[in-house]
Amino acid sequence: MSDQPAFSNTALTTPSTPALSETDYCLFNPTNLTYYRSSLLQGLELIENRMKTVKRPFSGILPRELAQQFEHLDLDQPCRGMNEALAELDRLYLEDAVYFHHPHYTAHLNCPVTIPAITAELIQASFNTSVDTWDQSGGGTFIEQRLIDWTANRIGFDSEADGVFTSGGTQSNLMAMLLARDNLSQHFWQHSTREQGLHPDAHRFRIFCSEVSHFSIQKAAALLGLGYDAVVPVPCDAYYRMDVTALTQAIETTREQGLLPMAVVATAGTTDFGSIDPIIPIADLSRREGLWLHVDAAYGCGLLTSSRHRHLLKGIEQADSVTVDYHKSFLQPVSCSALLVRHKHTLGCVTWHAEYLNPLCQRQEGTPNLVDKSLQTTRRFDALKLWLTLRALGPEAIGAAFDKVIHLARQGYLLLLSDNDIEILHQPQLSTLVFRYRPDMALSEAALDQLNQSIRKALMRSGEALVAATRVHGRQYLKFTLLNPDTRIRDVQAVLRLIKRHGAEALADHTPTNTQQPMEVAHVG
Ligand SMILES: *Cc1c(COP(=O)(O)O)cnc(C)c1O
Repeated sequence: MSDQPAFSNTALTTPSTPALSETDYCLFNPTNLTYYRSSLLQGLELIENRMKTVKRPFSGILPRELAQQFEHLDLDQPCRGMNEALAELDRLYLEDAVYFHHPHYTAHLNCPVTIPAITAELIQASFNTSVDTWDQSGGGTFIEQRLIDWTANRIGFDSEADGVFTSGGTQSNLMAMLLARDNLSQHFWQHSTREQGLHPDAHRFRIFCSEVSHFSIQKAAALLGLGYDAVVPVPCDAYYRMDVTALTQAIETTREQGLLPMAVVATAGTTDFGSIDPIIPIADLSRREGLWLHVDAAYGCGLLTSSRHRHLLKGIEQADSVTVDYHKSFLQPVSCSALLVRHKHTLGCVTWHAEYLNPLCQRQEGTPNLVDKSLQTTRRFDALKLWLTLRALGPEAIGAAFDKVIHLARQGYLLLLSDNDIEILHQPQLSTLVFRYRPDMALSEAALDQLNQSIRKALMRSGEALVAATRVHGRQYLKFTLLNPDTRIRDVQAVLRLIKRHGAEALADHTPTNTQQPMEVAHVG
């Protein structure tokens, strides 16, 4: 043909031999489906073998021990093929990975994940959809939007609501504080922060959140040019919930000081205690004071699908913005999170129309470009895993799983309460338990701190169980975070036995004649 280009691209897209040598790109395309399948099956085999043999949530390895294995690795010298690369990966990663599905993993807000979600991850990674614009996602945009609408509806927002998927609660909280800041500047001074930068008086803005709220609020304040000092920590009641009288007082005091209250953050499920701030009175107060109300439900969002405990979120529908982390209480792989807003127009402060990507004319034509409301540009299609979970299992399955861990935490509370060697700090509203080992003997507070720290280290070193640690009023505590609906009370009992054993051993080891301290375990003072 005369119009055949001199440089034919068919030569690029269709390898002359379908057989693959290891030096090929191994791209996901129709000619490589045989390799795709065999490669996935190899990966699958690796995963299954690990799952069958994992006995503990962790190997117990120390960072400096594992670092040695990475030392002589030359990334310029690849393995001889997928098999070898996977075998190496098994050694370097899976051997010493942390296994959240294990019933003795009780440390952080990590959940085991649903199988439909994993299938979705494979699908999304294969097609590599980016949900920033319609022209890179098509149906992906509608899947995300429907999940946003579904979540908004569960919150109790009306059709004015909107939202966007984010990388996590940290980004959701940052966005929420950004909207609150720009909203206040606009109302107070008719000042557009987006266009003109921070108003000179913005350093007077104040954000109120409980003293046990998440640190990402402070981080957001710093990033937004307001500084840590803009965050006013409000004291809690005996249940680690924000004290509304103290909040009222704090708002009044800041006004008297000539400062400008900007937002109140109510936490629905604090990271340490799972405590839920009294949303209804906080919402009433925020409305009276004309303040932005953000509800950080990164952890507590699981209640949105719970039939038994949904009432704990009452009042959340009055928020201006809500953070939800599906990767915490919806059994989703990291990352899967969203920010929801009561008024869709408030998301406008992150909109930028780029001619090459999302020109204004597309918006006017009604083309949905999710980048218009996101901090990110290229963005992973994280909505798909939640979609497939909901479509395959239904929301009741998620709610039932969350109900189960709440029940487990209540059983765990009674277990810890009845143990004379344990001091428990709070009755759980969600699924965490903060406690410390405190045997019936004369030990100073400092000694108790060291003892509990050494217990956590010894447990981690053994790999038999993982628990978290936190400080409350300056003292060292241990924490169970229960997010695995398959964990039983006997598992919690087993971890408690380990804690007490390591505690007793640490005490016994601390004798002047004993020089054989276990490696890396703190001396008990
Ligand atoms: C975990 C958590 C966050 C931060 O979420 P990431 O997804 O880890 O970024 C924010 N707020 C609360 C209450 C959390 O528990």
